[in-house]
Amino acid sequence: MSQEPVVLFRNQDHQCLLFDKLVTGDGVQSNQFLILHKGKAVLLDPGGYLTFSALSSGISKYCDTAELDFIFASHQDPDIISSLDKWLTHTPCKVVSSRLWARFLPHLVSDTVRQTIQSNVFDRIVAVPDEGMNVPVGDTVIQCIPAHFLHSAGNLHFYDPISKILFSGDMGGSFGGEKDGPSVVDFSKHIPSMTGFHRRYMANNSVCKLWADMIRQLDVEMIVPQHGKYFKGKLIISEFLDWISTLQCGTDLLTEADFQIPE
Ligand code: FE
Repeated sequence: MSQEPVVLFRNQDHQCLLFDKLVTGDGVQSNQFLILHKGKAVLLDPGGYLTFSALSSGISKYCDTAELDFIFASHQDPDIISSLDKWLTHTPCKVVSSRLWARFLPHLVSDTVRQTIQSNVFDRIVAVPDEGMNVPVGDTVIQCIPAHFLHSAGNLHFYDPISKILFSGDMGGSFGGEKDGPSVVDFSKHIPSMTGFHRRYMANNSVCKLWADMIRQLDVEMIVPQHGKYFKGKLIISEFLDWISTLQCGTDLLTEADFQIPE
């Protein structure tokens, strides 16, 4: 299935595109992103086998997939990076991920693919340290921002300093909710579509608050998660950061009752 992407940002040299309707069948809805900068092409969180064919045909209208420069993976989950072997085979891309997952990702790659690409999978991986790093893309960078335990132990968010978009992985993700376009219009109405997911998938309030305090220091125009709608504009971004700063979630909510051996 092909679809036109949502244009998050576009100027003469730089584009950020969001593909939000590629998942078919029983997989959970997820967003994939293509950043184009002066002949460089970068995919963020490209997903798994459910999105590989549609995404590679979708991006081929905008760039030569045989020259894809990077894949950035916010964490290790199936809807983020399980199509790794396909991208390694069909493109020359390097894969940027947390150092916590760099040595685990080769498990996604079969022997046949290893022979095809004629290199160690690990040689194609850029392992990002816990403090984050700036990855050069032509004459700009993508900033890998620490997002430990939000939700994965080794978790990164990606900030594009040209568009001022923060690609926030699962943070800010939503399911269902209002069917009125790709961005959040009324924050309070949007909360129910985020609450259950953040309560169960985010580690606890203290990391959410540390993260929000860090993001308030960045000049962010949009926060774009990997599931559901995005947040555009300073006001709605600050509403989201205030909400997540006070949310009780993860280990905050666990008690003895959650650790019972099943009968
Ligand atoms: Fe995940």
